[in-house]
Amino acid sequence: MFLRGFTILFLSCTSIIIHLNFCLSTIPFSLNSLPLAGNFSFDEVTLSHAARDFGNRYQYNPMAVLHPESASDIAATIKHIWLMGPRSQLTVAARGHGHSLQGQAQAHGGVVINMESLKVPEMQVHVGNTPYVSVSGGELWINILHETLKYGLAPRSWTDYLHLTVGGTLSNAGVSGQAFRHGPQISNVHQLEIVTGTGDMVKCSKEQNEDLFHSVLGGLGQFGIITRATILLEPAPDMVKWTRVLYSDFTAFTRDQEQLISEEKSFDYIEGFVIINRTGLLNNWRSSFKPQDPVQASQFNSDGKTLYCLELAKYFTLEEINVVNQEVEKHLSHLNFIPSTLFLTEVTYIDFLDRVHVSEVKLRSKGLWNIQHPWLNLFIPKSNIHHFAQVVFGNILTETSNGPVLIYPLNKSMWDNKTSVVIPEEDIFYLVAFLASAVPSSNGTDGLEHIISQNKRILEYCQRANLGVKQYLPHYMSQEEWRAHFGPQWEAFVQRKCVYDPLAILAPGQRIFQKSI
Ligand code: FAD
Repeated sequence: MFLRGFTILFLSCTSIIIHLNFCLSTIPFSLNSLPLAGNFSFDEVTLSHAARDFGNRYQYNPMAVLHPESASDIAATIKHIWLMGPRSQLTVAARGHGHSLQGQAQAHGGVVINMESLKVPEMQVHVGNTPYVSVSGGELWINILHETLKYGLAPRSWTDYLHLTVGGTLSNAGVSGQAFRHGPQISNVHQLEIVTGTGDMVKCSKEQNEDLFHSVLGGLGQFGIITRATILLEPAPDMVKWTRVLYSDFTAFTRDQEQLISEEKSFDYIEGFVIINRTGLLNNWRSSFKPQDPVQASQFNSDGKTLYCLELAKYFTLEEINVVNQEVEKHLSHLNFIPSTLFLTEVTYIDFLDRVHVSEVKLRSKGLWNIQHPWLNLFIPKSNIHHFAQVVFGNILTETSNGPVLIYPLNKSMWDNKTSVVIPEEDIFYLVAFLASAVPSSNGTDGLEHIISQNKRILEYCQRANLGVKQYLPHYMSQEEWRAHFGPQWEAFVQRKCVYDPLAILAPGQRIFQKSI
């Protein structure tokens, strides 16, 4: 009896496997038969490129890569997969510039959409009282900067690095030193065009299909593919006065940062970073900062102490050149940094915004860009930042940080709580970013294992001490952890998934939902 039951089970499993294999083998053919303006690639080189990202730690090949020429190509592909139903197992990941850290833009055995090939309609800048630019979801921010500057305009909110796509950063938040004033990039979007997980093309904004609009912003790619976005612009400055000052006292450092982000007309950009060992000061890979007095800067001796660098930028036009110095001086005179550590420089607006790219070029030339990046990004409530700093900078990261450690405060009032992004409860919270690079094949403190275990210690401490910390660019392996990450927002997140991507086709690399089979 048992044997007979087993045989039937075995035969039915075999037939399911044969059926699935049959489906899998016919899929490339069925995708290729779609009437698209763009095309699919199935070759090994393209597939393995689509399985790589900046993190360089996870690598899952898709079955196919779509190079869409229009949003309709994306809609037709997703509709086709949606109509196959749960049996097909196929998932879809939009890939922006592939600068994720843990395979978030990958689709194991599925379809990766190469968003950068989506170029039409062309970028359109609209001047007027409320200027904006309409761009493809696969557009790089650096291209948007160059195009909008032709009209004397530029987006208001940035990331530190501009070789990322609009869809990629809007799926997270897009945070940099301008966010204290303008909010993250997701607070500076007027309208989106989306292809949902059912293959429907939908326009949305705060006025139209509002729920989809908010779901997608910070939505980790779960609810739809951003095929087009309308980004708010402001008049662009010509130049930037870029300042760095140092603190040895963490309390003075954060007090000044918090004071500056509460002022209406202080600086246009406010960030900061931790200098764990002295080499971090000027050899910092993220920095193209060249102080006007490099001799003075190189002579500063920290005596091995951990230092905190406040980084400020004031934008100005050529007509304002005479007043900007006075204004910067006035604001600096209220700060409590170490007096001999005022480092100043002046650069063009483009050079300032594209500063990380300079370091990228240098690192690429030394073969140190495409290495592993076990990054950890955290949002920490203001009330716990001192506790956090004491333990993490005092006990966990004592010798080296293997890369920059950013730390700067953000105003919660500039974040729209209807979006999907998860941030701490308090009015002010800090972004702390551990941007480590792992030296290939090193078993030492600069090796992957060591950095991962350091990150783990930081996360475990945050949890143990109940600091109310949230991960930015979050990464978890189980749904339980995702549920904890979202906290009270989890039910709404799941609800939105059921509405916009009920088969869980989209962004499987985030590992939040599994396609039901
Ligand atoms: P990808 O890695 O290609 O995709 C990221 C996720 O978004 C994936 O889940 C993908 O499926 C989804 N996705 C991509 N395109 C779309 C789309 N059109 N529609 C829907 N979903 C989509 N972040 C900051 O906030 N501030 C910073 O200052 C900052 N600096 C960085 C510097 C460097 C050097 C790097 C590598 C990353 C930095 N990041 C920063 C993180 C960055 O914003 C994210 O990793 C972002 O996702 C990368 O964009 P991408 O175009 O490469 O996206």
